[in-house]
Amino acid sequence: MRPPGTPPQKIALPHIKYVVAVASGKGGVGKSTVAVNLALALAGEGRRRVGLVDADVYGPSLPIMLGTDARPRVGPDKRIHPLERYGIKLMSMGFFLDEQSPVIWRGPIVMGIVRQFLRDVEWGELDLLVVDLPPGTGDAPLTLVQQVPVAGAVVVTTPQDVALLDVGRGMAMFAQVSTPVLGVVENMSGYLCPRCGTEDPIFGRGGADALAARFGVPVLARIPLVPALREGGDAGRPLVAAQPEHPASRLFAALAGRVADALAAPA
Ligand code: ADP
Repeated sequence: MRPPGTPPQKIALPHIKYVVAVASGKGGVGKSTVAVNLALALAGEGRRRVGLVDADVYGPSLPIMLGTDARPRVGPDKRIHPLERYGIKLMSMGFFLDEQSPVIWRGPIVMGIVRQFLRDVEWGELDLLVVDLPPGTGDAPLTLVQQVPVAGAVVVTTPQDVALLDVGRGMAMFAQVSTPVLGVVENMSGYLCPRCGTEDPIFGRGGADALAARFGVPVLARIPLVPALREGGDAGRPLVAAQPEHPASRLFAALAGRVADALAAPA
């Protein structure tokens, strides 16, 4: 038995090169949108083998965003076979819940589910596994980052919430479990007019820079408010897959490049 207070053993994932966590201080900032489009951009049309785990079991939105409500197949050996969409492998609690189920699980149960997603799912060899964490710094995200061997975290904020305590707490959570934060993504950073292409910083500028400077990490990307991003999510056709040449898709491609570089760089 492990003495009380010692952190639990991390799950061994020998077939996965890097696990990247996508986190946020609170809900609704676009964490899942970033996780999905980042995962697709990292896959880069087959250049890398990528999986995506929806660990946001309180509001699993990835099945909708990726346009699938199929149930994963369970093999005779009891191994779960992930679904595959747009070239990435996908696992979500949303596949096992109906819309009426109240989701009130606490950290240890969430961890049990995610543990199963990581260990009992037939991922095959992966270059990257992107984990969409539950929002905030409660016991669910904390238990996850304690037990999953996360190589680096990407923290998503909006310009309005960078000043809030939540984001600072999120950063502190990763420091506490010695998980490197690769950087910050400022989402809904201004409005990109679909007609004229100009960008309007409706929420102001500089918040993410100040936050990043405070914690000594880079701003990895600024993603403006883009109606096509929301529409793509609602329709189950993520922008990066549906319109890879869209200006916002290019921002995700640049983000993916920075994430891959940061992971490959010696610590
Ligand atoms: P979270 O995972 O943080 O709760 P979501 O990714 O579910 O947030 O995003 C919340 C809503 O905002 C969704 O309707 C999503 O389509 C929309 N959204 C997220 N980012 C953008 C963006 N950059 N431009 C337009 N809509 C966005």
